[in-house]
Amino acid sequence: MKLTARINSIKPSPTLAITMKANALRAEGRDIIGFGAGEPDFDTPDNVKQAAIRAINEGFTKYTPVGGIDELKDAIIAKLQRDNHLSYTRAQICVSCGAKHTLYNLAQVLFEEGDEVVIPSPYWVSYPDIVMLTGAKAVILKTRASEGFKIQPSELETAITDRTRAVIINSPSNPSGVAYSPAEVEKLAAVIARKKVLAISDDIYEKILYDGLDFANVASVHPAMKELTVVVNGLSKSHAMTGWRIGYAAGPADIIAAATKLQSQNTSNPTSIAQKASVEALNGDQAIVGTMVREFEKRRNVIVERLNAIPGITCMTPQGAFYVFPEIAGLLGRKHDGKVLTTSSDVAAWLLDAANVAVIPGGEFGHDDHIRLSYATSMANIEKGLDRIRDAALKLE
Ligand code: PMP
Ligand code: GLU
Repeated sequence: MKLTARINSIKPSPTLAITMKANALRAEGRDIIGFGAGEPDFDTPDNVKQAAIRAINEGFTKYTPVGGIDELKDAIIAKLQRDNHLSYTRAQICVSCGAKHTLYNLAQVLFEEGDEVVIPSPYWVSYPDIVMLTGAKAVILKTRASEGFKIQPSELETAITDRTRAVIINSPSNPSGVAYSPAEVEKLAAVIARKKVLAISDDIYEKILYDGLDFANVASVHPAMKELTVVVNGLSKSHAMTGWRIGYAAGPADIIAAATKLQSQNTSNPTSIAQKASVEALNGDQAIVGTMVREFEKRRNVIVERLNAIPGITCMTPQGAFYVFPEIAGLLGRKHDGKVLTTSSDVAAWLLDAANVAVIPGGEFGHDDHIRLSYATSMANIEKGLDRIRDAALKLE
């Protein structure tokens, strides 16, 4: 059957594909340790589950307003005020089926052929494809490991042309775990405000920050940026709710109205029950956040130390999220079973084959001399997985 050039121009999400493959191998009886999927290994908190059960029992199981119920919009507004000191009205909020859906909606209503969207690399795998689906060009702004994978304001300035519609900012970052300090965010905000382009601030890892670092986004540090920013966030990472599929956008009312109109013609509202659960997640006890972050920080320390002890691997210490993005240049050119490891995909395939460990090739994030490991898995898995990677690396020819 003939398919559109549009759908043929993108690839399946590699993070999801590798995770599914690891699950399938496990179902066949292989003892795979998964460092693939970026999802908290913690259970959704009980108060959140109970709110969903209550919603079902009370018959809250019908269509809701397309962009979310007022109660949830109000909880989001309160969160943005409390955590980010940003004030929004209900007309400035659209709730969607996960932050991925939010980003998709935004791209569809904001970008088209002839437009450029600046995406710093390493980038989350879905940004370029979501942008490409609109016909716009994803302009990759490459950052360097030697500069902590941070955008330099002067490079951002150069990357923004008169075709640029938006810059996507993701701090803490998937896949590098890099987080900008408020002072660094301020410098980026100054460039974007001067150039008068839109910022899409993907704050999904906002809560997962280490070493006492403070979170800031471009809208919260620069008064002129509020009108030029769409904040994207969701419940998946902060409240271990990946399967519930709730994300949201907060920004200028015309953009939000357009995204809501688009949503009315595709998914309609996000699940009514998940919306009620999200109200509880945002307004209720926040203990889960601290518990997860403390545990992730311990795991980060172990995984970074263990990776750096393996010859051929160098790993920066990330400040947030639950990923490490080590450089594997020292493994490239080496041989396994007579086959040379040339790309990060070869390295990921070798690790799956020889070590029963699933990782994501760095090439998927724009940096082929890296791999990504998610440490949202138990300490026991981290220790065992790292033993296996070390043993396999020591056997390379
Ligand atoms: N942004 C980033 C940077 C991500 O890593 C993810 C992955 N889950 C998302 C957005 C989307 O999250 P969700 O759709 O689960 O809300
Ligand atoms: N964002 C997570 C990851 O990067 C989950 C999978 C996805 O949505 O891409 O692994």
